[in-house]
Amino acid sequence: MEAIPQFLFLFLLLFFSFILFKRVKTIKRNILLGNKKYKTSTKKETRLKNLILVAFGQSKMFKKMTPAILHLMIYSGFIIINIEIIEIILDGILGTHRIFNMIGMPYYNVFISIIEFFIILVLISCVIFLVRRNFMNINRLKSSELKGWPTLDANLILIFEIILMVAILTMNASDLILQDHGKYNFTGSFYFSGTLKPLLINFSTDSLVIVERTFWWIHIIGIFLFAVYVTYSKHLHIFLSFPNIYYSDDNEKGKMSNMDSITNEIKIMMGISTEEVNEPPKRFGAKDVTDLSWKNILEAYSCSECGRCTSVCPANITGKKLSPRKIMMDVRDRSEEIGKMKDQNLNYDNKSLLGDYISKEEIFACTSCNACVEECPININPLDVIIECRRYAALEDSNIPAEWNSMMQNIETNFSPWKFPIDERSNWFKKEI
Ligand code: SF4
Ligand code: SF4
Repeated sequence: MEAIPQFLFLFLLLFFSFILFKRVKTIKRNILLGNKKYKTSTKKETRLKNLILVAFGQSKMFKKMTPAILHLMIYSGFIIINIEIIEIILDGILGTHRIFNMIGMPYYNVFISIIEFFIILVLISCVIFLVRRNFMNINRLKSSELKGWPTLDANLILIFEIILMVAILTMNASDLILQDHGKYNFTGSFYFSGTLKPLLINFSTDSLVIVERTFWWIHIIGIFLFAVYVTYSKHLHIFLSFPNIYYSDDNEKGKMSNMDSITNEIKIMMGISTEEVNEPPKRFGAKDVTDLSWKNILEAYSCSECGRCTSVCPANITGKKLSPRKIMMDVRDRSEEIGKMKDQNLNYDNKSLLGDYISKEEIFACTSCNACVEECPININPLDVIIECRRYAALEDSNIPAEWNSMMQNIETNFSPWKFPIDERSNWFKKEI
């Protein structure tokens, strides 16, 4: 066999590992821009169960069968195909050719054939996803927040995967013919790439070596590029959905977190507590991502932009400006923006999440129905961000719709949103009888 230029391979491996390491550090720093207050109250056993069922088992995906099956095909393919990548990396480092076969791995050709089966599944799924996304009228894939980079990103990654899959199959097919020519060690036949042999059968041995090596390099450089690219893409959910699900709160559905300082103040007013809070919070609610929790920002980086949340949002369905998916995309974009300013040692700009990214019109349109949280396949909670922004608008900015002010005044004086005194609240009901 032709020797693999090990030095070139090692250089590329170190170079891409360094870029990846830096990018991972940046994302971690950006997530930790959020405050440290968040702690999940879900028990460890439940969190592990969620990890197995929701993350590994993708249980929430199966509410919609077609995308769920296609997604499962890509997901399982991604895991299985990575085993072959271990072999390719070892070959690159050691200058060997198919090291698992060299060391006498039993049923090596069956192992590669199984991987090829998953490659075919991934290929089919990617093509169907491309067609669905670009040629079918699926509302959640056509929203305005997906214009530009998000749509390009989704298409690029699918094309990327198709190229990688074709590269492996072509590499394997040419390898099989080179085995017949006595150039490479015998492995036994590979089921799927074996069917491609007639396409290459007329090539000379030297040309086949060029084809096989070229696709080997396309594959491994593609993997390196993919690893770095993913960190800039919505496909970061491949990795971050696991910690996101593990740390998600699995308490009563729709339960909102109370603000400690306000809860305490009310308890004092009602004579339930006398304990004064020494240090008032620096900010009520959230104006920017730095006022959100690290978990809110982790969720934003984990979002796959699938739009399931938006497709069930009653505000969005009835034509309001609100899209919970956009809320999470805005949190991620703003975190990236602040992160870049930190990298350049710049002071914060005059922008903020609420105002420059998310408008008040959006957050006021939310009915706090919790449907988006319920629907999200990876337990993201867009409602939490909306509530925090609303708290800021109400408590610090004093800028909420006028009708809300009278409603809140009624709650304060009458213990109900209406203007009736408390003892007249049920009159309408009695009169009906
Ligand atoms: S909680 Fe708000 S954002 Fe979420 S689905 Fe309901 S209305 Fe939409
Ligand atoms: S928040 Fe969840 S449901 Fe909504 S787009 Fe992101 S991943 Fe999909």
